[in-house]
This record gives sequence, structure tokens and C-alpha cells, in this order.
Amino acid sequence: MSLAGKTALVTGGARGIGLGIAERLAADGAKIALVDLNPDPLAEAASRFAPEKVITIAADVTDRQQIINAIDQTAERLGGFDIMVNNAGIAQVQPIAEITEVEMDRVFAVNVKGVLWGIQAAAARFKRDGTRGKIISAASIAAHEGFPMLGAYCSTKFAVRALTQVAAKEFAADGITVNAYCPGVVGTDMWTEIDARFAELTGAEKGATFDKFVGSIALGRAQTPQDVASLVSYLAGPDSDYMTGQSILIDGGMVYR
Ligand code: NAD
Repeated sequence: MSLAGKTALVTGGARGIGLGIAERLAADGAKIALVDLNPDPLAEAASRFAPEKVITIAADVTDRQQIINAIDQTAERLGGFDIMVNNAGIAQVQPIAEITEVEMDRVFAVNVKGVLWGIQAAAARFKRDGTRGKIISAASIAAHEGFPMLGAYCSTKFAVRALTQVAAKEFAADGITVNAYCPGVVGTDMWTEIDARFAELTGAEKGATFDKFVGSIALGRAQTPQDVASLVSYLAGPDSDYMTGQSILIDGGMVYR
């Protein structure tokens, strides 16, 4: 129970990796604020937690003020705020020659601006409260290597790595650490969407793109949200107090740095 007495906010917490992270941090002893776009999936996700350990907040990470409000609500309703997990993200599959301005803006709004607003708002609240907080964001293998058809998405995840390094340096003096996790191929709804889009663009069979990517994993299986959550648990807890500015690969052996 290394997180007993702590409170964590997880964006994109209604499903997939975010929900897996929230469940793990709760098992570690933290109280949880689940933040996502819509109340119904949030309520469904919250039913998996002890009622006194969870709150839900419908908010859009692309809106800076909504994230500031979500953090304030978390601190007030759960009695503290110690860990920010900027997990919400969306995929974008398009050959580089065909990426439109609208598509580029949409994926940047969620994956880059959403993370930036989360970092800003969390750091401001930590400083105000004198909390030596932890900021943890979702990057990806796509933050370390470019993958064909994923140009817009990869560029957002490289940007998360950059923001992580800069924020780590700027907030180190306040005792705030800033790190990111870089999963590989996790079998969530996001990958169902990526696979369907590859099928549409390349004529591949449904499931074939997912299988091809999984086939390149040294450990021989797709990743689960729990595999990601174990790293986030470490980054949220005291064992990582001397780590900051890192974007750590956890991918079963796909990209080696
Ligand atoms: P997912 O699509 O299954 O879940 C994402 C959640 O984020 C959804 O509940 C969605 O409603 C929420 N969300 C989307 N836009 C939002 C917004 N504007 N405001 C608030 N919430 C919003 O995705 P996932 O696979 O669980 O991925 C989670 C994170 O991990 C993402 O940042 C993703 O880029 C990253 N990632 C995923 C994989 C993978 O293989 N699935 C690999 C590497 C990195």
C-alpha cells in the first residue's frame, strides 16, 4: 500500500489503459478521481471501485479551464491531490501525404495540449499546496520511433516526451517529478480503431495489422493495461523519487533505446 493517503487523478480513466492504471493505483492505496468525456462510461468504470475511494468528473482535456476545475474538485472532494496521470489520448492513422490540417489539429489538441494543460494545472496546484507531486503522462513507442501511417500520432507522442523533459527541469526545484510511460501494443478499444483504419486504408484483413504488430513483440504477446499500470504504480510511488524527465519504454521488447 505504497500510495496510502495519496490521491490520484487519471484522465481517460473510463476505459482501457487509464482504467487499468486507476485500478492499480487504488489497489496501491490511493483515492482516485476518474476524468473522462462522458458521465455514463465514467459511472460504469467507477462501479469497479470502493465507493468511498473514487469520484468521477466529466471533463475534456483539450479545455484548459476544465482541467484546472477537475484538479480543484479532486483536492476538495477527496481531501488532497498528489498524482496527476495525463493518460487521455486519441489515435490517428493516415499516410503522411494525406494528413489534413483538421486531423492534425484534432490529434494535437488531445494528445499534446491536453497533456500540457494537465502538467500546468497539476504543477500549479502542487506548488500552491506545497505538495511534492508526481506528474505522469502517456507517451508511446511512437514517442521514440516513427511508424508508417502514424505520422500525426507519432509527432504528438514525441511532443509529450519533449514536454516531459522541459517540465521536469522547470519543476525540479519545487520537488515535483515529471515522467512518461511508453507502452507498445495494448489490446484496447484504441487498437481496435487503429486496426480498422489500417484495414480501410491498406485492404488488410480485420485483425491482421494488430497481429502483425504483436508478432514483432519479443515477449510474444500483446500488452495489457495491467502491464502498463505496474510501471505507472512505480512512477507514482516513493521508489521513483529520484527519477524525473524520463519517458520509459514498457513494450515487451519492440523498440530498444
Ligand atoms: P482508449 O481509446 O481505449 O481510451 C482512451 C480514453 O480517453 C477514452 O475513455 C476516451 O473517452 C478518453 N478521452 C479521449 N479524448 C478525451 C478528451 N479530450 N478528454 C478526456 N478524455 C478523453 O485508449 P488507450 O489504448 O487506453 O490509450 C490510453 C493512452 O495510452 C493514450 O494516450 C494512448 O495514446 C496511449 N497509448 C496506447 C497504446 C495502445 O496500444 N493502446 C500504446 C501506446 C500508448
